Amino acid sequence: MPVLEKELGVQQVEQYIDGVFDKVKKRNPEETEFHQAVKEVLESLKPVLNKKPVYMEKGIVESIVEPERLITFRVPWIDENGNLQVNRGFRVQFNSAIGPYKGGLRFHPSVNASIIKFLGFEQIFKNSLTGQPIGAGKGGSDFDPKGKTDLEIMRFCQSFMTELSKHIGPDTDVPAGDIGVGAREIGYMFGQYKKMRSAYEAGVLTGKGIHYGGSLGRKEATGYGTVYFVNEMLKDNGASFNNSAVVVSGSGNVSIYAMEKAQELGAKIVACSDSSGYIYDPNGINLDTVKRLKELENQRISEYVKAHPLATFHDKFSEIWSIPCDIALPCATQNELDKEAADILVQNGVKAIGEGANMPCTQDAIEVLIDHRILFAPAKAANAGGVAVSALEMAQNSARLSWPLTEVDLKLQAIMKEIYRESKKASHEYDAAGNLVIGANIAGFVKVADAMISQGVI
Ligand code: GLU
Repeated sequence: MPVLEKELGVQQVEQYIDGVFDKVKKRNPEETEFHQAVKEVLESLKPVLNKKPVYMEKGIVESIVEPERLITFRVPWIDENGNLQVNRGFRVQFNSAIGPYKGGLRFHPSVNASIIKFLGFEQIFKNSLTGQPIGAGKGGSDFDPKGKTDLEIMRFCQSFMTELSKHIGPDTDVPAGDIGVGAREIGYMFGQYKKMRSAYEAGVLTGKGIHYGGSLGRKEATGYGTVYFVNEMLKDNGASFNNSAVVVSGSGNVSIYAMEKAQELGAKIVACSDSSGYIYDPNGINLDTVKRLKELENQRISEYVKAHPLATFHDKFSEIWSIPCDIALPCATQNELDKEAADILVQNGVKAIGEGANMPCTQDAIEVLIDHRILFAPAKAANAGGVAVSALEMAQNSARLSWPLTEVDLKLQAIMKEIYRESKKASHEYDAAGNLVIGANIAGFVKVADAMISQGVI
């Protein structure tokens, strides 16, 4: 292409992207997390739009940032004192170009339309990267499960599902867990759905218990998958987890199984956290203790030091990133690792970062890491293992059988390797050599965009 024509093309793409982003901001005022997620993707799509203007001409970018449907509803329930409580429920059905809407439910007081839309938007690219036939959705509620009794959790889940059941189904929309939603909540919601439908539609939810349609390996999949992905990235750059010092934020499902797999690969985990603070254990975190506290006893992470007197507890959650490490895995929540934290990690000689949570690094933190050539595994690629095994759970439910753990785990490993390969390949194809943020966004986008074009204006 002649130079002038190329430059005009670049300007046109810039203008188009600015225009789409302005519209997103106007249409969704004050939804800062949603803006952040959209901005990151739009910026990284520029090289693909330069090479393939058809995605602009067909209006694919304008369409992809607009959810197909956003449902909000009232969730009334009665607490232990007999009082009425009212929460708000959400489900965003973002994109169904390559399969039924798919994505978790989050129960956390911070949940609002912005959080659900950012998560649903990310799910489009993540789910596409898995290579499985799943579209994108997300949902949840501002309900706070902390401090609630088991009966309160059950009543809330039943009320939530009474409304949600009108909008989901094994071929329509398949929710799963996320923060605050684990096997117990999925069980209560599945029970209510089954009762309302008078049918056993196992594939309507994933993350189910293994005795009623769940998949072996689903619980571990997000954490294991993150470590499989980071391991590929390390190997590709002549490094490994072996003998490395690793900091993993969080102590929920993603964090626990990331720690487990990293330890298996020879890493020493020196710190993990919960929303009340972090623990540092120079001997390496004892995972049995963390599992007992978090999976069985529902305790704060500070209790860990009682069993391990050499360990220390610090009440500033975000200061976990000041602990020197080779590899950092943010596995807690969005925007938990900011520029200041990234600067400290770089100063302390960090070599790789893998995002286990959704959007845990702020945009300026990512810039610092990329500028310093730190290996960076972005969430949409690195944490796709959870939803990938959810898709395998759907496949098992449809076939009415269950695969052994080794089969699921081998499939997960293959999927994570392939996501790494594809993301890297796309980064090279679009002149962003090795930048996996750009590579993953483009690789995820192209499949969905092509499907949208094939299906016409709908
Ligand atoms: N909530 C998880 C995620 O962020 C899993 C979703 C699912 O399994 O559908 O990808």
